[in-house]
Amino acid sequence: MKRTLLLVGAIWLAAAAAFGQANGKLQIHYIDVGQGDAEVLISPHGEVVLFDDGARDHCDKPLAYLAKIGVTKVDVHIASHYHDDHIGCTQEVLTAFPLAGAAYDRGGSYTTTSYTKYVQAVGSHRATATTSTVITLDQEWPDPVTISIVALNGNGVPTTNENDLSVVAVVRYGHFRAELGGDLSGFDTGSYADIETSVAPLVGRIDVYKVHHHSSRYSTNDAWLATTTPRIGIISVGDGNSYGFPTADCLARLHAHGVHTYWTEAGAGVAPDAAFDEVAGSTVVEVAKDAAEYTVTIAGGAVDVYPTWDVSTTPTPTPTETPTPGSFGRVRRHLTAERPPTPTPTPTPTPSPSPAPAAAATR
Ligand SMILES: [Zn+2]
Ligand SMILES: [Zn+2]
Repeated sequence: MKRTLLLVGAIWLAAAAAFGQANGKLQIHYIDVGQGDAEVLISPHGEVVLFDDGARDHCDKPLAYLAKIGVTKVDVHIASHYHDDHIGCTQEVLTAFPLAGAAYDRGGSYTTTSYTKYVQAVGSHRATATTSTVITLDQEWPDPVTISIVALNGNGVPTTNENDLSVVAVVRYGHFRAELGGDLSGFDTGSYADIETSVAPLVGRIDVYKVHHHSSRYSTNDAWLATTTPRIGIISVGDGNSYGFPTADCLARLHAHGVHTYWTEAGAGVAPDAAFDEVAGSTVVEVAKDAAEYTVTIAGGAVDVYPTWDVSTTPTPTPTETPTPGSFGRVRRHLTAERPPTPTPTPTPTPSPSPAPAAAATR
């Protein structure tokens, strides 16, 4: 791992302002919403897509974050599935940031208050996603962003588990690829079914993986990682969660495939391994037009830089490009003129006291 730490003086507030609305780059913000999921994509020319919107009872988190980065409206809403840690704040968020376009979901129905509130909040904007759904952002520009729905409702695998019905989206911009697939499972166990194995070839090689199901032990199987080969994974996880997330099983698989992970919070499971994992808070991935690299900015201000896969010539993994565990091609730096002097470098996350037992029932 190549890792360089440069400390430079600057004004930190300028950094927050710099991220706001359109800045000519694709931005994906993985928001710290506690134990739940919410990601906001801002296209280079300012279109805003929300992937899930946070957990019921903690809607202050997505609301504050979206306001902080200067979002004023949402163009497209995509609900991965109907658990209330994913659609728990639709009403609150869309009241503050009105929805201009469609609200895609898996169709069907669900029997919770959050679901009912969601349906009311999206109203006539509601649209059922299909595997033909392609959302094109910045359509009139020469560098559009596309979001393709590649699977949903179990991808043909019989299941009634709500997590396994998650909508799977692939974001493409130039050479860059990211996948967001809600709480998808990768193992046939209990009420879960292995959906990931059949979905992986539809996704292909990606750069950034939003780790399915908050790093449940039943997510992120080896076939998934071997086919999609993400360099980094973002784990959306909350302190004090009752599920034991992040799980040691899932992290062991991610590490074995050389995936560096960023956690929105420390969670209540295994402690981070400093060689692979970082408790990062809200995490922003940015990629410039035609860039062969992307940046990952964590809440503390550090910036990691990674190369994109050359997806234009190698849409599927080849053995020579399989990442080596611990080797991320990462370079850490602090952006000049945007970061404050850091009194003491703090690269070591505080370990959790002890891993909590993994809970069986998860949402
Ligand atoms: Zn969830
Ligand atoms: Zn779920």
